[in-house]
Amino acid sequence: MARILVVGGSLGGLMAANLLLRDGHEVQVLERSPRSLQGRGAGIVTHEGLREVLRLAGAVVDATLGVAVASRVVLGADGRPQCRWAHPQILTSWGRLYTLLRAALPEAHLGLGAGVKAVQQHGDGVSVQLTNGQALQADLLVAADGIRSTVRAQLLPAVQPQYAGYVAWRGVCEEAALSRHTRETLFPHFGFGLPPGEQMLGYPVAGAADSTEPGQRRWNFVWYRPAAAGAELETLLTDADGQHFPEGIAPQAVSWRHIAAVRAAARTTLAPQFAEVLEKTAVPFLQPIYDLASPQLAFGRIALLGDAAFVARPHVGMGVAKAAADALALARAIAAAGATPAALQQYDALRRPAGQAVAERARQLGAGLEARPPGTPPAPPRDAAAVMHHTAVDASLFETYPP
Ligand SMILES: Cc1cc2nc3c(=O)[nH]c(=O)nc-3n(C[C@H](O)[C@H](O)[C@H](O)COP(=O)(O)OP(=O)(O)OC[C@H]3O[C@@H](n4cnc5c(N)ncnc54)[C@H](O)[C@@H]3O)c2cc1C
Repeated sequence: MARILVVGGSLGGLMAANLLLRDGHEVQVLERSPRSLQGRGAGIVTHEGLREVLRLAGAVVDATLGVAVASRVVLGADGRPQCRWAHPQILTSWGRLYTLLRAALPEAHLGLGAGVKAVQQHGDGVSVQLTNGQALQADLLVAADGIRSTVRAQLLPAVQPQYAGYVAWRGVCEEAALSRHTRETLFPHFGFGLPPGEQMLGYPVAGAADSTEPGQRRWNFVWYRPAAAGAELETLLTDADGQHFPEGIAPQAVSWRHIAAVRAAARTTLAPQFAEVLEKTAVPFLQPIYDLASPQLAFGRIALLGDAAFVARPHVGMGVAKAAADALALARAIAAAGATPAALQQYDALRRPAGQAVAERARQLGAGLEARPPGTPPAPPRDAAAVMHHTAVDASLFETYPP
């Protein structure tokens, strides 16, 4: 049995901690946030690989995991279907996965308000310094501390998130607030809209108290819109009082002026169903899209995992699935080679190429959404069926379209 510290108590950290705990290790999660992360996040597409890791991590995966849809549809600006694809999927939410993984981890293994300041390796262990001055020791350290990882910044200071040139407007809208036409034409599907140079997508997720009953669900949407680096992005990341949040703006801080503008744009460029969703979503928020790739995942007794290692643009719908695959590969390598640098090397050899491949695939799917320099011709129109077949599907389907 080894002592393993996991930095970050979001989905990646909780999956790793639960797997390692079940393998008999002494595990402690160190999460910077002083409060539970419940209540945050939006929709997540599930894949079989993710569901398998959730089960192995001790989460209860049953019919309450999410909302099942049978098909996909691309809606034109007039609201009519342009093309359809029968593709069953289960759509869940970040909050649902967080609840399941927290329930699987005994409270004593989760330290909230435990921000990591620095890590240091020595002989056969790792020491960790917390921001509150506390020092901890371990045999291994797993850095699951996200895109702006403190641990990665110390080990690979040159590796920084690269802004991709577009943002995602996101939100969830109560099903009960929508017109019958919108409910009937949107909720049975994973839906898409493709205005020039932009992309809307959305799907139903569970509503209050995790209800998946028709009438009580919510519609989760993601609308990718170009925004040039510099002044345009800065304006979007500045609240109505003039405060700028360069590393990301909290949902409640997004300026009402930008929300009004995005709703107006929805009315002129998207299918009326999507425009109604935008109008009736209480707090639309926005996230800049980034690329991030680490050239190394194992550093002696420290491993990078999940978004700390690679961030793939959301088009592949694999942020959580990739973190799950990382967590499983790490646990298996430690089970095979012990809590040793050799185990982390095995993990690196397996997951670095996988992370690179997913991130590259995601970059390809997002190409054409980036802001273009003034005077550049618009990106060529995309094949609607191809977008529908390539977005957020299992990796095994990547090369199956065009047929
Ligand atoms: C609150 C929240 C909501 C999200 N919602 C969505 C969503 O709706 N849809 C989606 O696709 N993805 C969402 N994500 C991202 C998604 O969780 C990740 O893409 C994926 O699960 C891999 O995550 P991760 O655990 O590697 O990193 P992250 O989810 O980014 O988690 C990193 C964690 O590390 C903690 N942390 C950071 N620095 C330190 C430090 N120095 N010391 C201790 N702890 C630290 C952070 O507080 C955070 O909890 C969300 C992430 C968070 C944190």
